[in-house]
Amino acid sequence: MLVLDKISKSFKQKTVAREISFEVGRGKTAAVLGASGSGKSTLLNIIAGLVQPDGGEVLLGGEKQNALPPESRHVAMMFQDFALLPHLNVWQNAAFGLRMRGMGKADAKRRAEEMLEEVGLGGMGERRTDALSGGEKQRVALARALVGKPKVLLLDEPFSSLDTALRSQLQQLARDMVRQRDIPAVLVTHDPAEACFMADSLVLLSSGSLIQHGTPEEVLQRPANAAAARLLGCMNVSEQRYIPPEAVRISPEGTQCRLLHCFRLPAGWRITAQHPEYGELSCFADAPVHDSTCRIAVAETQIVCFQAA
Ligand code: ADP
Ligand code: MG
Repeated sequence: MLVLDKISKSFKQKTVAREISFEVGRGKTAAVLGASGSGKSTLLNIIAGLVQPDGGEVLLGGEKQNALPPESRHVAMMFQDFALLPHLNVWQNAAFGLRMRGMGKADAKRRAEEMLEEVGLGGMGERRTDALSGGEKQRVALARALVGKPKVLLLDEPFSSLDTALRSQLQQLARDMVRQRDIPAVLVTHDPAEACFMADSLVLLSSGSLIQHGTPEEVLQRPANAAAARLLGCMNVSEQRYIPPEAVRISPEGTQCRLLHCFRLPAGWRITAQHPEYGELSCFADAPVHDSTCRIAVAETQIVCFQAA
């Protein structure tokens, strides 16, 4: 089990982690979702031992990690840009970590080739890496990450540069291999679909703060606030206000949308719905409205709410 216990970090005046705590069990993946610059990579670097936290502790299997150098942590990382070594061929790249740890060439090659077979690159060990496709490069990177039997796998937006079909193959492969190896994994991404597909739990970060943590189902059903809803790609959120889906009830025939009593529409606020056929539908509150009705349809409807000028 990987535990982050109140991890804090600032660079000069900028706080990139504010007492971040979460756990990832063996064989499980946690996805850290956050906008660019929200501190996602820094969190991975802290787990890997490449950045020291100002406060808090990283624990792996109950053991404190902060005092350990990166090479003693048995952490493997994958990055968006593959980070393969161009002068080495495929098996040499996959075997790189083993060789660095002093394993003999023949053993390292055999282990690397077994691993390449597992990631779908059997028989490609002698190829040059610059001749590989993006998906193949990322398979080499996955083989290199896992060949040394790491205790944790850290994935820093590794699939972002791949096209859709390849991306989903690699996501599935990485997810399956984390489960088979029974190690915790932390995936950093800004793609909510990837997070929900790969992860058992989501960690939503905004400017260094953890704003929500739970299973994908829990978090998607009840985003904690507008920032969380936006990170999850929810459509019904605007800069000013977020309407939780449970506050809106749509009639069975799909022609009426009611705001339930639990959601109070303040005076001067307007709700609009983008209907694919009828265009913008809206209702406006000139006094606080507790139970307001507007015409709307279910399919492809986007509900947004904003303060009328
Ligand atoms: P993300 O991966 O979510 O895009 P990062 O963790 O890379 O975010 O960075 C968060 C913030 O911390 C950014 O504003 C970045 O410029 C800053 N930062 C990251 N590393 C350093 C560093 N070594 N020194 C100073 N600032 C840094
Ligand atoms: Mg990053």
